[in-house]
Amino acid sequence: MPPKLSGAAVAAFRRKLLQWYRSSKRDLPWRRTHDPYCIWLAEIMLQQTRVTTVIPYYERFLDRFPSVEALARAPLEDVLQIWSGLGYYSRARNLHRAARQIVGRHASQFPDSTEAALALPGIGRYTAAAILSIAYGKPRAVLDGNVARVLARLDAICGDIRAPGRWRAFEARAQDLLEKSTPGDWNQATMELGATVCLPKAPRCEICPVSQWCHARAIGIEDQIPAARTRPSAIRLKLAAAVLLDPRGRTLVLRSGAKEASLFSRLWQFPALEANGSPRRAVASHLQTKFGLRDAAIEYAGESRHTVTHRRIRLASFLVRVSRLPRVRGAKTPKFADLRRLPISNATRKISDQVARLISPRR
Ligand code: SF4
Repeated sequence: MPPKLSGAAVAAFRRKLLQWYRSSKRDLPWRRTHDPYCIWLAEIMLQQTRVTTVIPYYERFLDRFPSVEALARAPLEDVLQIWSGLGYYSRARNLHRAARQIVGRHASQFPDSTEAALALPGIGRYTAAAILSIAYGKPRAVLDGNVARVLARLDAICGDIRAPGRWRAFEARAQDLLEKSTPGDWNQATMELGATVCLPKAPRCEICPVSQWCHARAIGIEDQIPAARTRPSAIRLKLAAAVLLDPRGRTLVLRSGAKEASLFSRLWQFPALEANGSPRRAVASHLQTKFGLRDAAIEYAGESRHTVTHRRIRLASFLVRVSRLPRVRGAKTPKFADLRRLPISNATRKISDQVARLISPRR
């Protein structure tokens, strides 16, 4: 059995993990800076999103909004447009609100106390600890799913790692193990270990720098930790969307209503509705009742799949050529080809891709 990870063993454990991190860490753009604004942006973008997806968004965002002042000055619409495709748009809305608060109340500096950081929109305990430790060297340990999994395996703790009592115990354990002289590197080292070596399904114990202290590995139960979580069963939905197109190539987009908000993320969207029967008939009747369009020529453009949390959605797209777009309060009528200059969700991108193939088959 490995030595218990306490007392003198902790010092050796910290040394080993930090050495490994410094020699093997991935070269990521936000690791080349200590600027709190950049660290904050990266931490928000990385929530529920893969590193490889985040990198181009992070770089584009900083090109467009190089400082917290630039972000605070920008209209929300511009921020959402740059965020388009990254998903979870409440992150962008909160980032923008928080930027305005930082400029207005904190002299344009991300606050360096946990309490003030937690008071900002979109900042939870994990994000506050990550920013404060990496940007300001504050001794706050992070705990996310990756770190909790590593801790559970090191101490061979079975069961649901998210159970409230257990999560609190992991928070205390993470704070206990924190290397206080270099908390930013320490936190990134534990996260890096979880993200690249101590993987959820197949931990790579043979290359793990801390395997000598791992109790789960010693007793051969690393694959059973953490226990699988029960997920809500998938809900299946069918949606039909109509892309109206006038002779000048303009289309009609609306702000998502409350019903479609989670699918279209409260961004600009094509007219759409849930279709339990024939999607074509649903679109025809929707166009008639909502916009007074009778006998419109409706062309089927194709179907795509989309997933939002536990909902699996089939999206049927239709092209509807009209001589004139209906006038709708609060709607926009951009050129179809310029649609991506507006903030739109991935679902809207998929619909527009289907229709674009119908309009220009060789694209
Ligand atoms: Fe994770 Fe394996 Fe390392 Fe233990 S030895 S911390 S299970 S990668």
